[in-house]
Amino acid sequence: TIWNLGSINADHVYAVPHIPTPGETLAATGLSRGLGGKGANMSVAAARAGARVAHLGAVGEDGGWMVERLEAYGVDCAHVQRRGGPSGHAIITVDAKGENAITLWPGANRDIEPEAVKQALQGAAPGDLFVTQNETALQPEAAAQARAKGLTVAYAAAPFDAEAVRAVRPHLDLLVLNEIEARQLEQALNSSIESLGIAHVVVTLGARGCDWIEAGSGTRHHVDAPRVEAVDTTGAGDTFTGYLLAGLSQGLAMEAALNRATRAAALKVGRPGAADAIPTAEEVERAVF
Ligand code: ADP
Repeated sequence: TIWNLGSINADHVYAVPHIPTPGETLAATGLSRGLGGKGANMSVAAARAGARVAHLGAVGEDGGWMVERLEAYGVDCAHVQRRGGPSGHAIITVDAKGENAITLWPGANRDIEPEAVKQALQGAAPGDLFVTQNETALQPEAAAQARAKGLTVAYAAAPFDAEAVRAVRPHLDLLVLNEIEARQLEQALNSSIESLGIAHVVVTLGARGCDWIEAGSGTRHHVDAPRVEAVDTTGAGDTFTGYLLAGLSQGLAMEAALNRATRAAALKVGRPGAADAIPTAEEVERAVF
């Protein structure tokens, strides 16, 4: 089982002729609502990859539809809490050229009840995996507990915050971050990625694929990404990380898991949307690039 302490957000996407300027009122020409949030995206990706996923998180009073959708994708939501107030959500305006501006409200994601997470993780078993990102409360506490229980602990350092990484770092077996985040981390910690003391670090490189750094040997491996026409890169990293963890939980070697993850992320990049655009294992298998 993959235990994912992660955000659940409603993405409200407004199509606008241009991004509104201060003081301007502008009518949108289109509206769509989808499931998003780095945590939910990762859970959906891992479930679509065929792994067993238990999501730890919270939605507000308006979040019932998101829990239903996660469950429809095969994510176990028994430990998703219902809190008062609004769910996490993003107001996303996208202009005709595809440029966007996003206002994010963390909502219930910041209001996850610690005792319930603690109790849920009591049900985890050695050999399970734990993953979290930087969009919820309780990251270091839950990571420490998971590590103590013998789980493999992974962290996606997004949205990047040096203090958040510092707090979880002692508990990590695997760190996933993009190129920009990697540079920010090296600057903040004044240390190279190679010498973080984390067993496995994966740096994603957008269209160029990813690098995997093994701390033990200091070896850097590279995996190329398939070439695709990018339509919407929202959730590419989450799809990648979800598939990577699923592969590891299914017993794939790192190299094979990275390979499938880059194929899944490439397919996602070719489709608009977040969680709802993540491909299934069968689609990833069949894809010809
Ligand atoms: P993030 O989305 O977190 O900023 P990246 O941009 O590095 O991270 O993308 C994550 C992964 O998604 C990459 O490692 C790659 O496998 C895939 N990906 C992203 N952009 C593209 C692209 N244009 N073409 C193919 N694959 C892509």
